[in-house]
Amino acid sequence: MTTNRSDMTNCGRALAVLATLCAPVVAYSQSPASSTVDPPEPASDLRVQEVRPGLSVITGAGSNVVVWSGADGLVLVDTGLATSSAALVEAVTHVSAAPVKFVIITHGHADHVGGNETFAHKGAVIIGHESLREHGGQDPAVPDGKVETPAVTLASRPVLTTMDALALHLNGDRLDAVHVADAHTAADIVVRLNHADVVALGDIYWNGQYPYIDVESGGSLAGMVAAVEGTLARSNERTVVIPGHGAVSNRVELAEYRDMLVAVGRKVREAVEKGMGIEAILEAKPTAEFDAKFGHPGAIVAPEEFVRSVYRDLASNRPGC
Ligand SMILES: [Zn+2]
Repeated sequence: MTTNRSDMTNCGRALAVLATLCAPVVAYSQSPASSTVDPPEPASDLRVQEVRPGLSVITGAGSNVVVWSGADGLVLVDTGLATSSAALVEAVTHVSAAPVKFVIITHGHADHVGGNETFAHKGAVIIGHESLREHGGQDPAVPDGKVETPAVTLASRPVLTTMDALALHLNGDRLDAVHVADAHTAADIVVRLNHADVVALGDIYWNGQYPYIDVESGGSLAGMVAAVEGTLARSNERTVVIPGHGAVSNRVELAEYRDMLVAVGRKVREAVEKGMGIEAILEAKPTAEFDAKFGHPGAIVAPEEFVRSVYRDLASNRPGC
């Protein structure tokens, strides 16, 4: 995978490696000997941003982490990289000293579930899609010896699962965790806080960057677009939209991202229908008009890697975008 790295933060470099690791199968971290993931970041590198009263986003842990706090306790959405878990625990205490009661994971990639085990040991209930309990965290598609550390380990698997939707009634609000089919992966969950009017999309949304579509784990461009459309339909100009990666966002930026997904998807589809192969499609640069905004040097996923994942999706026999 070609990834732009010239202006990356430590987090960005780590995620670039993870995005590479994601490529053939879900996400697995490598052993220390073979990994180029940066060492754990000190807590001072994590940043806490309050986006609503009682609702904060922590950045710098590998993925965006949402912290919902109130009289009934803390709820996290995603837990970042395992190497950042100690720093994340400390950062959460800056929001509230209360224990974390629930952790909702938006999907099973290593940069979103790395702190699960830590918070589970502290008493948190891990919530996620039912399929993340399959195979004991081991993907059977990965040859023996290739995987040192599965993303969703036995100890970090969700204990409260859904294949559809569930709600938490806490802190004077209602949180809906809703499965959306075949988007970034096959196990994505979108989290919405109703009264606060906040939605967390996990890796369905990469703000200001091209996304990675994990086709091998059941992701698809059509599912990504459908999930974004569904979110736009339930959002307004006040809605806070939290991406899996990138800055806290809003409905306007999410609509621009949707337009990019649809436009690039249309170009790749037309090229596939003409019988063009991936190399010819890359040469035609179907992302050209969007590269200034989404393919900047600090982006995690390079334009050609995004196009490759769209191609793998649309060139397969599954229904496309
Ligand atoms: Zn992901």
